[in-house]
Amino acid sequence: MDNLGIYSLLLLAVITGWILGRLTARGRSSRSRHNRNIFQDYFVGLNYLLNDEPDEAIDTFIKALEINSETIETHLALGALLRRRGKVDKAIKVHQALLARPGLDQSFSDSTRLQLAIDYISAGLLDRAERLLNEVLIEKTDAKWDALRHLITIYQTEKEWERAIDCSKMLLANSAYKREAELRAAAAHYCCEIAEKMLEEGQNNKAKEQIKRAFGFDKSNVRAALILANVEQRQGNFKAAIKQLIKVRTNNPEFVSQILGPLAECYEQLGNMPEYEKLLTNTLHEEPDVSVVLALSELVRKRANDEVAIEFLNDYLTRNPSLTGLVELLRLQIPKADAQVGSNLSLLQEMIDKLLRKKLAYQCNHCGYESKSLYWLCPSCQKWGRIKPLLDVVG
Ligand SMILES: [Zn+2]
Repeated sequence: MDNLGIYSLLLLAVITGWILGRLTARGRSSRSRHNRNIFQDYFVGLNYLLNDEPDEAIDTFIKALEINSETIETHLALGALLRRRGKVDKAIKVHQALLARPGLDQSFSDSTRLQLAIDYISAGLLDRAERLLNEVLIEKTDAKWDALRHLITIYQTEKEWERAIDCSKMLLANSAYKREAELRAAAAHYCCEIAEKMLEEGQNNKAKEQIKRAFGFDKSNVRAALILANVEQRQGNFKAAIKQLIKVRTNNPEFVSQILGPLAECYEQLGNMPEYEKLLTNTLHEEPDVSVVLALSELVRKRANDEVAIEFLNDYLTRNPSLTGLVELLRLQIPKADAQVGSNLSLLQEMIDKLLRKKLAYQCNHCGYESKSLYWLCPSCQKWGRIKPLLDVVG
């Protein structure tokens, strides 16, 4: 929340308190001394506010605001504000005090439980948060949907994938959330997490079942397609593996660099490298990715010779300059140059190699986080499937 937001909320607290104070003072003159103290607190709080000390102002207002049915919402808002400002301990105290109030209205009790659960999650007290959220679930009120979202966050953090899937299913059963792409993608990734564990244990068929489940949530999930291709390849179903890998190329062309290794292995097993070369040539027309160029150049070199590969690379790189492509061209040229030129070229190749090693290969298209390896869950914004390979352009 920006400063303007904080000030607006605090000012609201001041005005609420002032009006309530006036009403109370008019009705009960015996409490005038008490009200004078409240006003004193308000002026102290206001003073903090004017001196740009919002944390002290929040503390003073909370002290001054008596908890009663009219001020519950203000307390809830001030508690959330404390949490956002990193004062989780204080936020917990405010929300606990609210929850302890006897005869709290159902909707306020749900809101307070949700807020307290968020406090606990922020403080890393996941067990306590889970307990509170399950209490909200049992009530079967509208707060249930928010509780489910927070429970998913908890189960994701604890890597309790089955529970995360159960909560996702409950949310997706609500027509308001049924088409939420982010929710569906996340649920598919939970299935992929289980599938990868099955693969590690050598349970190929069980992994396949999980992938089927993943496609049920998100049929174009790239990770699920890659895992399925891997299982098919392990089981010797090379044609089925190729089918999955081509599906990735069609649905998620930005992931083409991830499919080339397994594609080459499958075509090699089938003894059909000309078909692979044809596929790469077609792919290059649609997706000018340097990884395809390198794979193609290697194929051409094996099928014909270095000269044909050099000619192919020269032709391509003139139209689409790329540092990675240039390194490969140098690697092929060096053995053909005389000793002096060859050593200069080697030096040049080394320098570009060093530059490329520093380059980050993946980027989150939601928050911009860059990394050297592919993470399915962005470590920065915690969104699933948003990190994608970066295209190698000029450098
Ligand atoms: Zn991100």
